[in-house]
Amino acid sequence: MTTASRVLILGGTGEARHLAARLAERPEIEAIASLAGRTQQPNPLAIPMRVGGFGGVAGLVAYLQTQQIAALIDATHPFAAQISHHAATAAAKTGIPHLQLVRPAWQPVTGDRWLAADSHATAAALLPGLATRIFLSIGRQELAAFAHLRQLWFLMRAIEPPPPEQPQPPGQLLLQRGPFTLAAERSLLQSHRIEAIVSKNSGGEATVAKLIAARELGLPVVMVQRPPLPPGERVAEVEGAIAWLQATLGCG
Ligand code: NAP
Repeated sequence: MTTASRVLILGGTGEARHLAARLAERPEIEAIASLAGRTQQPNPLAIPMRVGGFGGVAGLVAYLQTQQIAALIDATHPFAAQISHHAATAAAKTGIPHLQLVRPAWQPVTGDRWLAADSHATAAALLPGLATRIFLSIGRQELAAFAHLRQLWFLMRAIEPPPPEQPQPPGQLLLQRGPFTLAAERSLLQSHRIEAIVSKNSGGEATVAKLIAARELGLPVVMVQRPPLPPGERVAEVEGAIAWLQATLGCG
């Protein structure tokens, strides 16, 4: 009997969960998922998981070597740039094949009123004069960038509350995890009399409904652009990642 090839999936996304479910069905692959540990109750995964940072590039290199990882798939969120850069560097140092699974960015369509911002700070600078009641759909980590805007009101959606010591803008915190329906997003925007949305360009289906609702209601969307990702092999879908693994590990 040949031993299964070990694959490390850097996760925290729906794509990582989907890939994990597909690999769980394959005895020739022993997949392990890694989560940063940001959420107390992550969605369950079909494969074993480890939780917490590795301790920078050196820690990730040590993990890849001691765990005898044969391939590394970075399926983290497009805004989780640090871990993606660490993964690319660690893969280059160890010679372990490395793939990024990155969902495509959202693109504006007719009727959208998007304003591009290259950072959360730029997004914050665009708000005064644009709107007074704003839906901040960016999670909890970047709220501090808006904390100085005391004259505006924010509806802030996150999976878990921000730490109490973190500065926050005035408004209401809404604890919710996607996916969100169009009807629910439309009703949320209307019931809170929202005049503009700030969103990361995360891409994907789970959180796109707010953009459709904004288009219907004619609301501007300040769209924070993705941070640069490291160069390297990249696919946009789980199927592409499976094909890459088959080719890389010679299984299939
Ligand atoms: P980040 O800024 O790129 O990473 C910060 C540090 O967190 C990394 O250096 C690493 O610590 C640790 N880390 C991140 N992802 C990890 C993983 N999958 N497994 C083990 N350690 C990990 O990441 P972030 O933006 O805080 O995001 C954290 C996690 O949340 C990611 O896994 C991402 O997929 C998920 N997520 C992020 C967003 C977002 O908008 N940023 C949205 C949805 C989900 P060490 O240096 O100690 O290894």
